[in-house]
Amino acid sequence: MEYRINRRTNDRISVIGLGTSYISDSSEKDAIEALAYAYEQGINYADLATAGAKTFGYYGKALGDVRKEMLYQVHFGANYETGAYGWTTKGEVIKRQVDWMLSELKTDYIDYGFIHCIDEVKDWEAYKKGGALDFLLDMKKQGVVRHIGMSTHNPATAKVILDTGLADQLMFSINPGYDYQQGEYANGSSDERLSLYRRCEAEGIGISVMKPFSGGQLLDEKTSPFKRALTRYQCIQYALDKPGVLTVLPGIRNVQDVKDLLRFFEVSEEERDYSCLGDFTPSDASGICVYCNHCQPCPMGINVGLVNKYFDLAKAGDDMAVSHYNGLCVKADACVRCGHCDSRCPFHVKQMDRTGEIAEYFKARGSM
Ligand code: SF4
Ligand code: SF4
Repeated sequence: MEYRINRRTNDRISVIGLGTSYISDSSEKDAIEALAYAYEQGINYADLATAGAKTFGYYGKALGDVRKEMLYQVHFGANYETGAYGWTTKGEVIKRQVDWMLSELKTDYIDYGFIHCIDEVKDWEAYKKGGALDFLLDMKKQGVVRHIGMSTHNPATAKVILDTGLADQLMFSINPGYDYQQGEYANGSSDERLSLYRRCEAEGIGISVMKPFSGGQLLDEKTSPFKRALTRYQCIQYALDKPGVLTVLPGIRNVQDVKDLLRFFEVSEEERDYSCLGDFTPSDASGICVYCNHCQPCPMGINVGLVNKYFDLAKAGDDMAVSHYNGLCVKADACVRCGHCDSRCPFHVKQMDRTGEIAEYFKARGSM
């Protein structure tokens, strides 16, 4: 397993985590086996916005004994009073639900208490008015909630809530479909979405990725908006390459699902390569580096994806990106303008010129 660190909380988070959307439909035996297996394989992060109430008991039974080694994001606003998922902004309901979730999970604390699924600013107002936010803040004050997070499908709403400074973790729907304005939650332009990811990286806010396969649509050529099926591994790599992303949370139902996901660490680079998306890039995203490194190898040894990422992050105000850039053995100023990256980039980035721009930018900031 590979891990990434949330810079605000110092939590070490597995890059593949557990989305629990439909595990509630599994038998108790299948679910407990799957969760125990995931834990044994080093998965330590789980989302608990699930389709049904049974999931919480499954987690309690499977992982109650190793609770301290797991990190849970629990949603203040997911309501399971009927047994199925519901959404609420009512503080009193949320209080009852959180008490019940803690008991089912066999725990007395929550790693990340999430402001749950706020897609519109009016929902955020209702969340505050209904007492939901006050309850979450109170739980944080009492130490029951260690950190606050938020989930949304909308970059504009994410901005409004992140501006409060409350959230250390953002759950956001990231996949090539949504980033290219295809699919149910394709909110915001490519640039707006990428700016959100960069902001999170710059401010140390971790992103946990929901819907990495667009609800499975991207995995089937009949439902893929690109008329071509992508693999799970292309989608996971795509999400992990985005700034700020710490973990991807695909849904699982049984051990085989977990095994299939973990093959991500065994497959070849070619199987993770998503450069085919270059053919589907909309005009407003064309020419924007997605840090895929398909243009490697640079004859001078420049890690093109990485210098692009540090450049974008530094411009977004991330001073750590400047020091990371300064720590590179080979920097953009080593470019000999051979043109290889231009000829290889599937996303139509004029990288040769951009590498020069990057070298100038960091030189102006004192890079040697
Ligand atoms: S320049 Fe193109 S190929 Fe190279 S990392 Fe950026 S998007 Fe990928
Ligand atoms: S143009 Fe510069 S950055 Fe691009 S491959 Fe050639 S040397 Fe490397």
